[in-house]
Amino acid sequence: MQVRTVAVIGAGTMGSGIAQVCAQSGLQTKIFDAFPESLDKGMERIFAFWDKGIEKGKTRKNEKEEWSLNLKSCYEISEALENVDLVIEAVPEIMELKKEIFLKIDKLAPKHAILATNTSSLPISEIANVTNCPERVIGMHFFNPVPIMKLLELVKHEKCSEETIKLAQSIGLKIGKETILVNDVPGFATSRLGVIIGNEAIKMLSQGVASASDIDTAMKLGYKHPMGPLELSDLVGLDVRRDILNSLAESFNDESYRPHPLLNNLVLEGSLGKKTNKGIYIWDENGKKERDDLPR
Ligand code: NAD
Repeated sequence: MQVRTVAVIGAGTMGSGIAQVCAQSGLQTKIFDAFPESLDKGMERIFAFWDKGIEKGKTRKNEKEEWSLNLKSCYEISEALENVDLVIEAVPEIMELKKEIFLKIDKLAPKHAILATNTSSLPISEIANVTNCPERVIGMHFFNPVPIMKLLELVKHEKCSEETIKLAQSIGLKIGKETILVNDVPGFATSRLGVIIGNEAIKMLSQGVASASDIDTAMKLGYKHPMGPLELSDLVGLDVRRDILNSLAESFNDESYRPHPLLNNLVLEGSLGKKTNKGIYIWDENGKKERDDLPR
């Protein structure tokens, strides 16, 4: 089978990025979100990215035109799922929500389509098993920002077929990503390490070990990380990181994975990171600033 048409479900940070790279790679791409305003915002983000590319001389105007012809926003999930070869789900990291969406996808998508989830930590098998076709379900874990990050972590579960894995690998190649193949263990190979470093850095910030920017600089200059763990947490979304930590604590039955209270408090006050202009740092057009009012 050749994948020509893709549906992306959820038009947030990840869904819009995934739809963008699919459209740029020549795939007919449809994007749906349960909230029309989120769908519009997602589309705006994609066009703003392309316009910035033109401004910087990295993108040609005719490329933008060509890519935008490949991209369609859908206000009904049934329209998004019609005649697609691949579905990529990118709704929030809540198991019950993902299961509900996969039940719908199973009913509405063509019987040959590959069904992928962009979950960062949830067991793929549990999502796959709500469908009548677990062999066609796979984890396709993209990284933020999707148009820039090279890695695509593919997660296979027990019932995932070889054909599904091969197709997912070929899609990765087509959209310019390097794939790795990982077994269905909570947190996979990436999220588990990433959230633990981030949570520990938040704990250190709360204990007054150093300022946020000094903790970030420690990892950038001392360990050659391209970005510090606190700025990365703000970029990913503090709510997303909190949800991953909670899901790891539950999956491994190990309370040491629970989010630090400072992380919970930031999410509670609505400071979710860069997407709300405020998280561990304050973010504006000039970059990020240290905060002196963290909700301890
Ligand atoms: P987000 O909150 O930015 O976007 C989620 C979108 O889903 C929102 O636009 C929301 O309106 C929409 N949505 C909610 N309920 C829906 C429904 N029933 N049907 C359709 N759309 C619905 O979240 P995100 O950061 O894009 O994360 C999405 C998924 O990607 C999560 O599973 C997350 O763990 C994973 N992920 C996130 C990152 C990251 O850095 N943010 C990285 C890798 C994977």
